[in-house]
Amino acid sequence: MPDHISEVFLSLQGEGPSAGTPAHFIRLQGCTVGCDWCDTRYAWPEDGGRDGGPAAWIAEALALGAAPLLVVTGGEPLESGGLRDLLERSLDHWARVEVETSGIAPPPLSHPRLFYNVSPKLPSATRRWEETWRAAPAWIAEPNATFKLVVGDAPDDADAVRLIAAHRLPAARVMLMPEGVSDERVRAHAATVAALCRAHGWRMSPRLHVWLWGARRGV
Ligand code: SF4
Repeated sequence: MPDHISEVFLSLQGEGPSAGTPAHFIRLQGCTVGCDWCDTRYAWPEDGGRDGGPAAWIAEALALGAAPLLVVTGGEPLESGGLRDLLERSLDHWARVEVETSGIAPPPLSHPRLFYNVSPKLPSATRRWEETWRAAPAWIAEPNATFKLVVGDAPDDADAVRLIAAHRLPAARVMLMPEGVSDERVRAHAATVAALCRAHGWRMSPRLHVWLWGARRGV
């Protein structure tokens, strides 16, 4: 079972194909991927956060009010040993469950109502970027996986085009999202992302939570 969580909250999904949807969030503690621009560094230490177990975390989320969507995020959820157990239990309570992940390991579970937002990393993000592409064939084979690449300063734009082609990611399942933990920084990358999406037939993901609330926890 996952050892620790960082936080449980009710908000709107800020990114990816369900952006704007009211959602509960369960943020698992622990990540070793080490992205330079990570906005949840507090969730990196695996011994941080608090314990309780999946049943308690689900009850805590449901007590906050109703939402049609659960987002399991991190940290890196794929580095939590009990992720599959949490997902199986969650599917009993939510119409749709999404997992936010770097894709550093293959999908732990397939289910018609379970969706993955997979963000393999560009070379500028982390020295471990190549590891986040190794399971790309397994993620392509998972029909409910959307690839959400974070694009910041050059050469991220060229790297994204090159890696999407090299790994043959299906265009209909590719989203690009501008990097940034402030509205100004997201805007600085948004025009580049929009041009790439228009040219290649990919979708663009917002960062609604940054636009609405800035770099704050629990929103
Ligand atoms: S994988 Fe996610 S949680 Fe881990 S460092 Fe990168 S952005 Fe942060």
